[in-house]
Amino acid sequence: MQSFSVINPATEEQITEVAMTSLEQTDAAIERAHRAFPAWRDLAPGDRARLLRRFAAVVDDHLGELADLEVRNSGHPIGNARWEAGNVRDVINYYSATPERLFGRQIPVPGGVDITFREPLGVVGVIVPWNFPMPIAGWGFAPALAAGNCVVLKPAEWTPLTALRLAELALEAGIPEGVFTVLPGEGPVVGNRFVTHPLVRKVTFTGSTAVGKKIMAGCAGQLKRCTLELGGKSANVIFADADLETAAAAAPGAVFDNSGQDCCARSRILVQSSVVDRFLELLEPAVKAVPVGDPADPATAMGPLVSARHLERVRGYLDGADVAYTGSAPDGPGYWMPPTVLLGRSTTDRTWREEIFGPVVSVLPFADEADAIRLANDSDYGLSGSIFTRDLGRALRVSRGIQAGNLSVNSHSSVRYWTPFGGYKQSGLGRELGPDAADAYTEEKNVFFSQE
Ligand code: NAD
Repeated sequence: MQSFSVINPATEEQITEVAMTSLEQTDAAIERAHRAFPAWRDLAPGDRARLLRRFAAVVDDHLGELADLEVRNSGHPIGNARWEAGNVRDVINYYSATPERLFGRQIPVPGGVDITFREPLGVVGVIVPWNFPMPIAGWGFAPALAAGNCVVLKPAEWTPLTALRLAELALEAGIPEGVFTVLPGEGPVVGNRFVTHPLVRKVTFTGSTAVGKKIMAGCAGQLKRCTLELGGKSANVIFADADLETAAAAAPGAVFDNSGQDCCARSRILVQSSVVDRFLELLEPAVKAVPVGDPADPATAMGPLVSARHLERVRGYLDGADVAYTGSAPDGPGYWMPPTVLLGRSTTDRTWREEIFGPVVSVLPFADEADAIRLANDSDYGLSGSIFTRDLGRALRVSRGIQAGNLSVNSHSSVRYWTPFGGYKQSGLGRELGPDAADAYTEEKNVFFSQE
């Protein structure tokens, strides 16, 4: 059996070896999930809700353990990792209300009674990236399970440990065997099998836009449902009338959190030209003050990048780039890179257009409101963005003008589990989280009963 090494990115030490799921084992797991489906679907809503609440409670009992595991596997600072573990618990709890709220509809139709049922799909495949292994797993499996589906989930090759632990905790909570299965393995083997296997009725994919396009093309063969959460190149738009001190203090966190390995990273800072010099002056000490280092230290805000390969890829973007200034990074073992600020030169530059997915941000001036909207929208992506201004009318106009799924005004908040999340343009298809996410794991069936 093939296996792969799981490496601690802060030390480069091997944590463990994880066996890779083969194609045959993937098929067997999908068939097991298919067999488990009728009983899970037919549970009384209150019973499915109770099991989900128990799952959330068991996760809550293991928050510290899950967070420590993520610190070691992904290099996430311990404060972030605790939030991530808590987010999984909260998301399961939130969707535990779903079984008792999936009502369907009764719409008046003359001559009888018309009922629209909401039925679960069957087996759902969830494919997860390495940047937020725990929350992104939860955003997929929790609403899918709550709506009565069974889930097979593939974590990313580099970061399988927390997902594997969550599957054990689900069993401990009494979720029946086969209802929620985690299959560590390679994308083109396990993930692709979710796309091609006819018993998998939907694929929820979070990852790069390039692979997302392959998933969608593959799903088209069977008209399989898919939800896609893909890349981003989000703009942080700062107007001259903004509180510049606040905007400069907040900008590093908005892009260097999780070492920039964040689909919502505000990696393009657009500043009104009259204040761009002042903004760059204010930003410099904030960037230099970002505590980069040991992820197990509660004072750390930024850990290492996830792998040697990814570090090399991110560094490649700095060749010939115009670096304004950088923060600090430790020497020695680990995949370290300092927070780095570039002066944007042109909107055709690849550092401005491509998702770097590392601690690199570019700053570019704009002239006026129309220019800001034009530049923010001059991207294939449309996931997130922020607007800093004290003018309420401007905040409304610009937030309606920017083509992105998640915007924040005078803040960089993107993700709340009770509000919808997802991308415009090549940042994705469909929405996760919020009150309607479970609907995306159901089909509507309309039945008319004649009274004649
Ligand atoms: P990736 O596309 O390389 O891989 C994502 C997952 O897909 C992994 O589990 C991988 O094994 C699997 N995969 C790879 N090839 C596959 C194939 N042919 N068929 C099926 N599965 C396959 O992405 P990544 O490098 O792990 O993650 C980073 C990307 O994820 C970034 O672009 C980031 O913006 C994006 N992301 C988006 C969101 C969002 O919610 N929009 C959130 C987090 C990350």
